[in-house]
Amino acid sequence: MTKTTKNTRVLIADNLPDVCEEVLKRAGIKTVTRPELSAAELKKEIKGYDGVIVRSRAKLTSDVLVSATKLRAVCRAGVGIDNVDLESATKKGIVVMNTPEGSTISTAEHTIGMIFAMARKLPQAHQSLKRGEWERKKFIGVQVLGKTLGVIGIGRIGREVVKRAAALGMKVIAYDPYISPEIADQYPVHKVEKLEDLLKQADFITVHVPANKSTRNMITRREFDGMKDGVALVNCARGGIVVENDLYDALVSGKVSGAALDVFEEEPPKGNKLIDLEQVVATPHLGAQTAEAQKAVAVEAAEQMVDALSGRGYRNALNLPVSSQDEFDQLRPFMDFTERMGSFLMQLTDCGVRSVSLTYAGEIAKKNMRLVTDSFLVGLLKPCVDEGANLVSAPLLAMEKGLDVSITTSSTCGNFNNLITARVKTEKAESYVTGTIFDKGDARVVCIDDYDVEAFLEGTMLVVLAQDRPKLVGSIGTFLGDRGINITRMAFGRREIDGKTISILIINIDGPTEPDLIAKLEGLNSVNSARLVRLS
Ligand code: NAD
Repeated sequence: MTKTTKNTRVLIADNLPDVCEEVLKRAGIKTVTRPELSAAELKKEIKGYDGVIVRSRAKLTSDVLVSATKLRAVCRAGVGIDNVDLESATKKGIVVMNTPEGSTISTAEHTIGMIFAMARKLPQAHQSLKRGEWERKKFIGVQVLGKTLGVIGIGRIGREVVKRAAALGMKVIAYDPYISPEIADQYPVHKVEKLEDLLKQADFITVHVPANKSTRNMITRREFDGMKDGVALVNCARGGIVVENDLYDALVSGKVSGAALDVFEEEPPKGNKLIDLEQVVATPHLGAQTAEAQKAVAVEAAEQMVDALSGRGYRNALNLPVSSQDEFDQLRPFMDFTERMGSFLMQLTDCGVRSVSLTYAGEIAKKNMRLVTDSFLVGLLKPCVDEGANLVSAPLLAMEKGLDVSITTSSTCGNFNNLITARVKTEKAESYVTGTIFDKGDARVVCIDDYDVEAFLEGTMLVVLAQDRPKLVGSIGTFLGDRGINITRMAFGRREIDGKTISILIINIDGPTEPDLIAKLEGLNSVNSARLVRLS
């Protein structure tokens, strides 16, 4: 894991509230705010930074990222990351994060505002009065009490909308196939199985799904046909989820009585005929535009940047398989351990590993161990690639090197709470190490290549294979002592190979190691082989 130092620098490349800079400075990070940089200037400037925080103006394209030689983390203060080239960042091992939490309440409130704006025709009445008219009959609206609200997507924002709509006396139903009934039960909402069920019951429909391949064009002519006559639709999520042409037709035909749109397929919209319709209420992507949300995302971006640069956590990382700090904290001891296992095995076998298999046994087998596997790859690949490997780049590097990575799980692990076995194969050899983490967090190796041996993977280690005979340990101890090398721990194991008893000694040492130490150690009577392993 990396750490911040007094030379750690973060560039704030967009206009953000001062609090962003304050949080970074409090964490001892040097910050520079340059919201005015052109693409060419940003490309030059970015060279010297460990982190960059952007909003939506600064574009971190592949061309800009090419020069980002020091960059380790990018944080987008906001949700969409259209202005960051995620693929290029991932290839360079740069973690990319967004800050979806800070704007949740503001967007939920905006959605409720949009529902009222439609129900009571507030913008239209406002405009009419401003024109000097006094139209009271024309703007007769509807109450929301007792009406059915259909919420598509009950993630962060959807749930806040659910709570507020229920408090207004609306009957709330939701469609979200990825949320378990147990989670849905915690909210005042009835979860329906199929989207069609929601469409045919709802008086108001609001969309709160992410924009991705599966949600693009989610609401088309077919879905409008399945809705109640006179339904009203809100989209405060993302453009492209609702097909604008189909919505236009549904509004003109009267199938849909009104639409409230904060987001558009093209932003800013150009010649969008929906906006000209009387029954459409439109705002310029204002969901997160409150003073509170702006401040919250600025704080979130700075805090996430501090955590990422110090290796403490990668909340809301988009190119890492973990999103919550809790999950990261639970996995972290295992990640530290498997990174050391990877480094240990690489130094035992040299670069040239063709395949890797990891087995997770016990309680941990139920968790998502992707990040733990990736940590193993970091340890394994770091010495073999020019730019080093980190959690972001390691899976891609493994793929590029044609490394075959397999994972198996098992519920049984004998007397241990958990066991991790990492096995690597090269063209010529195969080696494995099994380890466990005890309740108090102590990590210990329990087996290496069929030798039962309880050892610590730390610092500088000697791994010695020798014929088992009296005075073996003493002779190695004397050999090291004569060279001013101190033994801090020693573990011993043995097994039968072809009728001979072979011992393994895992010796943790400190003190200087001379260049020909291993050759001289291998020259000792009975020593078959020796390896020097250095773990950070
Ligand atoms: P989230 O990831 O917390 O929740 C999204 C939910 O959608 C999840 O529960 C997921 O299971 C569900 N989902 C995914 N695919 C689905 C599908 N095909 N059918 C039904 N449900 C599906 O996201 P969030 O923070 O609640 O944000 C929701 C949307 O709001 C996003 O599109 C986000 O970009 C947008 N947003 C807009 C603004 C704005 O300014 N208007 C501000 C913030 C967020």
